[in-house]
Amino acid sequence: MTTPSLPMTEPLPGLPDRVTIYEVGPRDGLQNESTPLPVEVKVDFVRRLLAAGLETVELTSFVPRSWVPQLGDAEELLELLGPAGLGQHRPVLVPNERGLDRALERGVTSVAIFGSATETFARKNLNRSVAESVEMFAPVVRRSLDSGAWVRAYVSMCFGDPWEGPVPVDRVVDVCLRLMDLGCDQLSLGDTIGVGTPGHVVRLLDALDDAGIGPEQTAVHFHDTYGQALANTMAALGRGVRTVDASTGGLGGCPYARSATGNLATEDLVWALDGLGITHGVDLEALVRTSTWMAGQLGRPAPSRVVRALAGSG
Ligand code: MG
Repeated sequence: MTTPSLPMTEPLPGLPDRVTIYEVGPRDGLQNESTPLPVEVKVDFVRRLLAAGLETVELTSFVPRSWVPQLGDAEELLELLGPAGLGQHRPVLVPNERGLDRALERGVTSVAIFGSATETFARKNLNRSVAESVEMFAPVVRRSLDSGAWVRAYVSMCFGDPWEGPVPVDRVVDVCLRLMDLGCDQLSLGDTIGVGTPGHVVRLLDALDDAGIGPEQTAVHFHDTYGQALANTMAALGRGVRTVDASTGGLGGCPYARSATGNLATEDLVWALDGLGITHGVDLEALVRTSTWMAGQLGRPAPSRVVRALAGSG
């Protein structure tokens, strides 16, 4: 008996030829790991991801160290990565102008801000109302664009909120419009607690499109808490989305939402894309090796099903 190491390729009509995988493991993944990792291990992680063919890798976060101690080594990480590790496709998260200053000083040319579709999560994550957080982001986005940087806007809790419950599509669209009106280049729709289902995904993408934010500007960020991440991704691809967020090994969740576990694993996404014949540029075996190595660093197995299937009995 042998474990298949590649799926058979059978395309489905209506899906794109090529997908950009936006890797969030070093930031979204590691920020939610309780095991603190030495900066050298993080540098090695990023280098392995780049070597595996991932082009877009979100590196770290310039939030205050007291908010996210796991990423308190952002400056050091960028220093050690050097110019080869930076560039247009290596975004960092910035919460405010102070964070932006720190990022720009390090030569960052791609940034991400993070808004919330709900008032409760905006308050918990940013200690501000939704309106106040948009106000805080306005100069960050303006100054980023002035400096020639590319800007992504994350929106959390697009499909449900652990405190508020269901989140009306109209409210999500309203927050997305406010952030995109600042001039952001890309929107990333976050299902922070993983409750979304494919019809809901299509409904939101349609509503955004009607409001003037087309799928070519939109990325999706799904969590696998309820096992829906890949189904939701396929629904989004069928609706014209071309950028999918994923975390190698399935690292990470959300520190402010206890019910959230696991980003969509990059390996699980790659398996599906390979089976569909969709180009993505990533070497699956190299990713699995990276996740197996990272599992050793963290002292726990990778949540990704594909990693478990390919890495042996684990
Ligand atoms: Mg996430």
